[in-house]
Amino acid sequence: MRPPAPLALVALLAIASFSSAQNPLTPGIQSFVSFGDPAIAITHLRIIDGTGTAPKEDQTVVIRAGRIAALGTSATVTVPADARNVNGTGDTIYPGLVGMHQHLFYPSGGIPMYNEQAFSAPRLYLACGITTMRTGGSLEPYTDINVKRLIESGAIPGPDMDATGPYIQGPGGFSIQMPVLKTPEDARKTVEYWVSQGSTSFKAYMNISHDALAAAIQEVHRHGMKITGHLCSVGFTEAAELGIDNLEHGLLVDSEFTPGKQRDICPDARASGAAVEALDLKGPEAQRMIRTLVDHHVAVTSTLSVFEAMIPGRPPLEPRMLEAMSPEAARSYLAAKERASASPNRRTVAWLKKEMDFERAFVKTGGLLLAGCDPTGNGGALPGFGDQRNLELLVEAGFTPEEAIRIYSLNGAQYLGLEKEIGSIAVGKRADLVFVEGNPVAHISDVEKVTFVFKRGVGYDPAKLIASADGAVGIH
Ligand SMILES: [Zn+2]
Repeated sequence: MRPPAPLALVALLAIASFSSAQNPLTPGIQSFVSFGDPAIAITHLRIIDGTGTAPKEDQTVVIRAGRIAALGTSATVTVPADARNVNGTGDTIYPGLVGMHQHLFYPSGGIPMYNEQAFSAPRLYLACGITTMRTGGSLEPYTDINVKRLIESGAIPGPDMDATGPYIQGPGGFSIQMPVLKTPEDARKTVEYWVSQGSTSFKAYMNISHDALAAAIQEVHRHGMKITGHLCSVGFTEAAELGIDNLEHGLLVDSEFTPGKQRDICPDARASGAAVEALDLKGPEAQRMIRTLVDHHVAVTSTLSVFEAMIPGRPPLEPRMLEAMSPEAARSYLAAKERASASPNRRTVAWLKKEMDFERAFVKTGGLLLAGCDPTGNGGALPGFGDQRNLELLVEAGFTPEEAIRIYSLNGAQYLGLEKEIGSIAVGKRADLVFVEGNPVAHISDVEKVTFVFKRGVGYDPAKLIASADGAVGIH
């Protein structure tokens, strides 16, 4: 946005006026805040409202007490006398993103270990426009729950969080940081304990047995919460019939089409991958699976950027990513990229395209598609940056930019049951807004040009948030 006065001055005045208002900014976030005014009006904006419809030009949005107080054409909305007036010509706003497969951890190099990124991840997510997030599985659930509380209290910057408990995982998992739940009773007790500690949702993982998954689903639902899964020993159709709420990653991880798949056994990854690549999405098997997910209201979470990072030659190597990484994380990522190029089993664009086609087919059938970053894999999908890349990849998949933004905002809000509060730009809703320079409908890569992120009406400076995490990704 283009303030009438030099930006730094406007930001300074904004902080001064806010500190005299009823909601003082806590010291933990104050240094990142550019706009903390009790009331602010931004004029002449392009608005992509999160519902999937075409953008509206020359709009004014008035933010008061953390909510959208007025919205409409700049010719019709009066700027209140007590509101800071900012000219937004040239900028586009869309709803704060709802990232549904986020993590507070990141690969540490040694294959089965991940370092918790309680410092860098929340600020990078927020800087990139994520104002609400679900962790898609936790390796340090106490840390995640405490980070959620620190963000809520204003002690640190970050998105609002739905904090998943520890992975609901069976024996034989690849990470030594995960539980090994052998029986349905193990699964039930784990859910019950972590609900008591503050977890707000759960994620089932690859080696969980059918019976333990069934018990976990039942227990999670008994507490009025939701459970997602990245499954392997159990196929998508089976999981939908058991009542799971959400499946992560999409078709590329569905094991049910692997020839000879045995109950409760995660099949060989190569055989499973080949079966999925050979699957005819218009054929009866794939159509039946998609129909079952839609009929059972099972959402799917798109994580295209973590898949793309594994494909030789993609994604573009962004300097900002390497700057955010610790030297060791950068070395490890670049080495992984080189190894992938040399590998005889290297991932192909056709493999990624299969997932994109599945996601389109799922939505066309009426499925609720969500999206998230999943900062795991080879380390190429960084918190926040990976979400922006995911928006670009959803457009590459064939969704319109407006649909891609809806997948990343209103759809996530609907899944979380928060669609009355967040997920689209409307009067009365929370002022969770992403400001970008340019027009993502014309150039989706403009989603990388974030100028401000408003969360609950407080406008954060993404450059300051990113600079504060310089070199930190991979360490903490
Ligand atoms: Zn994940």
